[in-house]
Amino acid sequence: MDWYLDTRRGFRTLHFPDLKVPGTGHGFTSRQGPGESSGEAFAFLNMGLRTGEDPELVKKNHRLFLEGVGLQGYPLVTGEQVHGSLVVEAGPGRGFRVIPGADGLVTDRQGLVLNLFAADCALLFLVDRQARAVGLAHAGWRGAVAGIGPRAVQLLQEKYGIRPGDLLAGISPCIGPCCFQVREDVVRALKEQGLPREGLLTPSPAGDSWLLDLQALNRLQLSRAGVPAEGIFAASLCTACRQDLFYSYRRDGGITGRMMGYVYLEREGR
Ligand SMILES: [Zn+2]
Repeated sequence: MDWYLDTRRGFRTLHFPDLKVPGTGHGFTSRQGPGESSGEAFAFLNMGLRTGEDPELVKKNHRLFLEGVGLQGYPLVTGEQVHGSLVVEAGPGRGFRVIPGADGLVTDRQGLVLNLFAADCALLFLVDRQARAVGLAHAGWRGAVAGIGPRAVQLLQEKYGIRPGDLLAGISPCIGPCCFQVREDVVRALKEQGLPREGLLTPSPAGDSWLLDLQALNRLQLSRAGVPAEGIFAASLCTACRQDLFYSYRRDGGITGRMMGYVYLEREGR
């Protein structure tokens, strides 16, 4: 079992069982939960603050969810998420903080919750097998091609001495090759980075475009960075196909909510 959906106090959340290293926690929200969001675009648990929905209401969703999973009062750090490949170390602080320009975060601080948002892009979860540090990265096609996964792996090694072989990785639900139509610019970008077409791109049925396998792209990048293939787990759910579970930027024409991914090291003595 690579992944499973869990319901805790009404919140349906995805987890990777192999990433449940003692002393760590993680999850990926779905739209299903007792949130305050309503209407076709946002119901029920929109976690994105820049989606067009009232941010106060979204903050309430954050509070409800964090209480639901027992993380109330934890400091949270997120990245601005600019579809780049900047990964930074999240330092100490309180409340909810946004790191400008960052699409990836790493930390070895206990009790600090890393969180990022997505609706079609993949989120990459990185957990050290010995619970010394964790990382989280936002990997749409731009970030994935630019190597945000490998950069997060590299930063975990530089800052905390964690070898890529010691890491477990989870790839969140993202838009699948069934739905992710791309054009020549993406094909060119892959080629420029020395990434193969095989296994990543297939011609669309109409023959005028391509279908990209974003999950396979992220898996390839992580394994090239040294994460063992048997330590990489992916959620085989397409965000565009599964309207019941997920928001999808493509499917909903840009007006949609966001899921939240989070990962943390537990507080000492918790
Ligand atoms: Zn699909």
